[in-house]
Amino acid sequence: MKILVINCGSSSIKYKLYDTKISSLLAKGLIERIGEKNSKAKNHTEGIKLLISRIIEEGAVDKLEEISAIGHRVVHGGEVFTQPHIIDDAVIGKIKECVPLAPLHNPANLAGILSCAKVLPDTPQVAVFDTAFHQTMPEAAYLYAIPGYFYKKYKIRKYGFHGTSHQFVACQAADILGKPLEKIKLITCHLGNGCSITAIDKGKSIDTSMGFTPLEGLIMGTRSGDIDVAAVFHIMKKEKKHIADMDEILNKKSGLLGISGLSNDFRSIVEAAKRGNRFAKLAYDMFSYRIEKYIGAYYFALGGADAICFTGGIGENSKKFISDIKKKLKRIIDSKTKIMVVPTDEELMIARLTYKMVKGKQKCH
Ligand code: ADP
Repeated sequence: MKILVINCGSSSIKYKLYDTKISSLLAKGLIERIGEKNSKAKNHTEGIKLLISRIIEEGAVDKLEEISAIGHRVVHGGEVFTQPHIIDDAVIGKIKECVPLAPLHNPANLAGILSCAKVLPDTPQVAVFDTAFHQTMPEAAYLYAIPGYFYKKYKIRKYGFHGTSHQFVACQAADILGKPLEKIKLITCHLGNGCSITAIDKGKSIDTSMGFTPLEGLIMGTRSGDIDVAAVFHIMKKEKKHIADMDEILNKKSGLLGISGLSNDFRSIVEAAKRGNRFAKLAYDMFSYRIEKYIGAYYFALGGADAICFTGGIGENSKKFISDIKKKLKRIIDSKTKIMVVPTDEELMIARLTYKMVKGKQKCH
């Protein structure tokens, strides 16, 4: 079965085409600069038409009808979506209701869905949500200690993100360990530009480091992660900053970039630290320490773990980081807990979940 996976941004469409029977990638690409002057795609519908003509030209499919289903990455599913859904008018309405929670991302994801419905009206579409995997967190983990009114009125709570990646890595880890996912405890660490850690008990997320938005938790490329909110108020008062300025500082100018003053790219941080740059070394140490703290907390919350898994650009590739953290973890954790690198593949997970929804029977791995 050929499944098209779409990750639609406000001006771009990333796509991958899979044959799910053999989990093989048949085509992939990116349509950029949608809506810009001189662009080949004036809007998302033209972008979808363009990508279809590309995969036909490349010979990945002969005709439209060969695409059995389309899986869309949707960033925010709020509390409504606890799993992927076949898209119909009701689902579209509910994704729209989640727009206030992800005002930049959900409208773009919706544009992709509506465009596909125009271009391929007879092909089933499935929405796979970044937040859905974390909907199993208990109240004690997802509520913030603020008056309940804000949760009731605005749904202010921890949602967590990178859910598709954490789920994929958990499935892979279970395979590697040779045990059913329903019988193991895992800590999955997704370390890329964005970073998050999840505690998974018997296949279910019980806590995760990102929060109401992806800003909470670990130190990331340009995001601060956890910070005392009162410090933010203080900066705003002293520097007369507005909300938008502060949002930009915490999301785009902090993290590895803010600490080092050099780069958000982990490779550059490691190289500069090696050359003796004090602030690059500090960025590396702070980044690592925050991860260790979360692993410690989740190890305790889970009551131990069968494995601690690392993934994402840093988790999969930085030999130095993995070797350093392994040394530290091995001193503390049970010797039976495996520490492993598990490459993630969010698009393949979306393809598998889409297949499962359409066929209604396949396991996630
Ligand atoms: P995104 O979250 O945008 O998908 P990635 O998962 O690709 O990001 O991760 C990007 C991060 O991975 C960058 O900080 C980059 O420096 C880091 N990275 C990629 N390759 C390596 C490597 N070989 N060694 C160390 N860090 C790496």
